[in-house]
Amino acid sequence: VAVAIDLPEGSSRCACGIAHRVAIEEIALEPGAVERLAAYCDRKAWRRLLLVMDANTREAAGGAVADGLLGAGIDAEEHCFGRRSGLIADQEAVSAVRARLGSGPFDTPVAVGSGVITDIVRYAAHLEDRDFVSVATAASMDGYASGVAAMEFGGVKLTYPARAPLAIFADPAVLAAAPAELTRSGLGDMLGKATARVDWLASHLLYGEHFCPEVDARVLGPLTKTLDLVDAVLRAAPVAIESLMQGLLESGIAMAMIGSSRPASGCEHHASHFWDLLAARGIREHGQHGLQVGYATHFAMRLQRFAFTGGVQELAPPRESVALDAKARAWLGGPPPEVVAAIEQKRRFTAERAPRWPAPADWASLRAGLTTAQDLYPKVERALGAAEIPAAPGFLGVDARTLRATFRYASNLRARYTVIDFLDGQGALDEALEQTLGAATSDLERGDG
Ligand SMILES: [Zn+2]
Repeated sequence: VAVAIDLPEGSSRCACGIAHRVAIEEIALEPGAVERLAAYCDRKAWRRLLLVMDANTREAAGGAVADGLLGAGIDAEEHCFGRRSGLIADQEAVSAVRARLGSGPFDTPVAVGSGVITDIVRYAAHLEDRDFVSVATAASMDGYASGVAAMEFGGVKLTYPARAPLAIFADPAVLAAAPAELTRSGLGDMLGKATARVDWLASHLLYGEHFCPEVDARVLGPLTKTLDLVDAVLRAAPVAIESLMQGLLESGIAMAMIGSSRPASGCEHHASHFWDLLAARGIREHGQHGLQVGYATHFAMRLQRFAFTGGVQELAPPRESVALDAKARAWLGGPPPEVVAAIEQKRRFTAERAPRWPAPADWASLRAGLTTAQDLYPKVERALGAAEIPAAPGFLGVDARTLRATFRYASNLRARYTVIDFLDGQGALDEALEQTLGAATSDLERGDG
């Protein structure tokens, strides 16, 4: 049974008053989706494709895709990254795809893979000002349908404007056969939406940042459904994997509708980016994006509970955050120009919108709304546990000291306003970290100099 993912009409105006445009023409999430690719090519009158894959995704789907296309009379050339692990969405990989694209009159590039390959092709295609098609091989992250690419240039992982694929093809049997770690990762990325949407809502209520209920519903609906299917997802039941993938695709569409990752990425993602930065600096090993996001979601939930459900009793005008001190610089290593720009952008955001800051008397009702938005948290905690994503230091090479630094400094990596900025502005971040990360980490921090 095919899952219906309804794409917003190009011209439709939703309740928030903004016309959301999504360039995706077709999504096939169903058994035999790959056959739909050949039919799609036929409709587009495409005769020559470049399939970009790696050794793993070639085995998982790329070989079959090539055979299917060739059988349908469509020329499918392969660009196969030889390595089986450690491929990074960096300049080198993008240049390789661009060079190959320039070597012949290809009708379109096709990304056969999951996160890294899709982002490499997405960014290369965007720089060439052309479209691309995605064949998904794992329900591992929410970026398939998104219009931004998570790239790692000069060791810093940032999202860059790019474009959504013209079409996405995903066969649940292929997704279900992916390594279990990739599916757990997709689950972690999906569960992270719980805290991402609370960060978005908080910024809306505190600063009037644009918030679209229709877009939020696209994330909340599948998140709720995923919470009920966690055990089946972890057993790799294709129907459950299909449902998880639907949620990840809907999240991508939500991001494409808003034109940024705001609906699906909050401080839990900032933490993940912080860990990517440490990995790029050789301080820890690279981890799966979604596992990192899921791990961070545990602590993001605790911080939001503290911030919006008791820890901050009275709302004060936010104090201005202090510039990066020596300790922050030691962790952030620099900081790179993108980080400096993000800090400045956030400072401007909060300064410009300061007049909208709620009156102290409004805090109770505002907090009630944010508390309701956290109703799912007990289920999210259970789901993370089932996916073997623990709530203690030591997971994914993140020790207690790093964990504490993460939630103190990671918000500097992005212009986006989150619960961390809120707590910082209320002068409550230290207490929140103390209470949510535990006494063990504070001892370590004191020994930090
Ligand atoms: Zn994510």
